[in-house]
Amino acid sequence: MQDFASQNWHERAASLRPRHQAFIDGAFTDAANRRTFACLSPIDGRVVADVARCDNVDVDRAVRAARASFDGGAWSRCHPRSRKAALLRLAALVREHADELALLDCVDVGKPISDALGVDVPATAALFDWYAEAVDKLYGEIAPTGPDALALVTREAVGVVAAVIPWNFPLDMAAWKLAPALAAGNSVVLKPAEQSPLSALRLAELALEAGVPPGVLNVVPGFGNEAGRALGLHPDVDSLAFTGSTEVGKLFQGYAGASNMKMVWLECGGKSPNLVFADCDLDAAAKRAALGIFFNQGQVCSASSRLLVQSSVRDAFVERLLRETAALRIGDPLDPATQIGALVDAHQTERVMGYVDSGRRDGARLLCGGQRLTFGAGDCYVAPTIFADVDASMTIAREEIFGPVLSVLGFDDEADAIALANDTVYGLAASVWTRDLDRAHRVARALRAGTVSVNTVDALDPCVPFGGFKQSGFGRDMSLHALDKYSQLKTTWINFNR
Ligand code: NAP
Ligand code: MG
Repeated sequence: MQDFASQNWHERAASLRPRHQAFIDGAFTDAANRRTFACLSPIDGRVVADVARCDNVDVDRAVRAARASFDGGAWSRCHPRSRKAALLRLAALVREHADELALLDCVDVGKPISDALGVDVPATAALFDWYAEAVDKLYGEIAPTGPDALALVTREAVGVVAAVIPWNFPLDMAAWKLAPALAAGNSVVLKPAEQSPLSALRLAELALEAGVPPGVLNVVPGFGNEAGRALGLHPDVDSLAFTGSTEVGKLFQGYAGASNMKMVWLECGGKSPNLVFADCDLDAAAKRAALGIFFNQGQVCSASSRLLVQSSVRDAFVERLLRETAALRIGDPLDPATQIGALVDAHQTERVMGYVDSGRRDGARLLCGGQRLTFGAGDCYVAPTIFADVDASMTIAREEIFGPVLSVLGFDDEADAIALANDTVYGLAASVWTRDLDRAHRVARALRAGTVSVNTVDALDPCVPFGGFKQSGFGRDMSLHALDKYSQLKTTWINFNR
């Protein structure tokens, strides 16, 4: 763990000078129409930067730069070991600039500085390392043809990749798309969320320094749907990787159909169930259940937002859960002791409070939290909130809240638990707590989710795929499977003429 407790993060935050222009063809540049939008910090409401507001003209400029760099071959056709070296340098630069990158995300979205520094930044560096290490170890295939032919199955970069990402883990979400896309030899246009453009701009600058050639990585911050829509509809984008809400994900499928039939890959919302059986380690389960919903203020797509507890241990478990929750320190994100920081902005805070009201109205029993809080000049805080006696038909049990609000439901037996868990349009993640190995496997197999964690929550690692079933999307981030989004298979059939 870094020695960061003693640093004066407030002073350092005040002296941040974030990059605020678009990054196109290896240089920072204003939007063509010179428009900007205010990037606010939920910590104190101040304007951190006036950021370039890119529209379709800027997106077109970025896509052209990406295409030219791809066709030029300095990255797309270089030796895989050269890409590996550059991406390893980028990982090292991310570590070298850890404080700055962590501060940018902390100030931009209100996440605790200790999470940004202890989780987000190291995970980003590790991901660039992982794909850098992979890229010179990927082999193609030779197909089992007859004796008169040789058929090669090779992977090629798709060309120009667009990445459209959300605000909950600004740096990580960028890395999830960029690391595999760049490793595979593509050129990329990245659009960060309007709430969190800052770390992506700095990351692009570091990539250039690491040896990623100009034009290979471009960043077009946007406001509203302008830049995202322009990327979705652009005729020269070959593949578009999206992370965000299910609602907007569906729009991207429409954009692809209305334009060039680009590949579209969607990582969308979730309403992940956490199943606690009576035979599990209740203490460990309670600790992780609290983390599973309250980490990152609940703004996690795979957050364990539905807690399903076997009725025979419900009271004992809830008591432990309330103890764990009460121990969480909520407050100033720039204080290294803080575990729960601010929500991303006032709009999201109001949205979350709307769900709290709906839980109350529908008759769920509020066990803790339920209030909006103020710390210093900031009022984008929501106390960790737990509702019991939640019925599966209630809005708080069905919709993705994307905030620190947990719904507790009861079940009697395994069949009951599985039915409740699968009663959702989403299928991103699920957790199962039990000491019974047979049950663990039976339930894991029955759950319709991309990742099932057993005796933990939200298992995540670069070496395993992450993504959804049902309306949580399709395609996978992380692991070698992510390369499917960023490469094409080519068959080369060589006939032997006699
Ligand atoms: P969002 O509103 O769907 O926005 C995601 C991205 O799409 C942003 O860059 C946004 O740009 C852009 N966008 C919004 N409306 C658009 C439109 N009409 N056309 C084109 N682009 C558009 O999601 P969010 O509020 O940022 O993030 C929260 C959501 O992301 C949650 O549903 C969460 O579950 C999901 N999420 C999923 C994963 C996963 O891996 N499955 C991970 C993290 C988050 P602007 O910001 O400029 O509007
Ligand atoms: Mg912001």
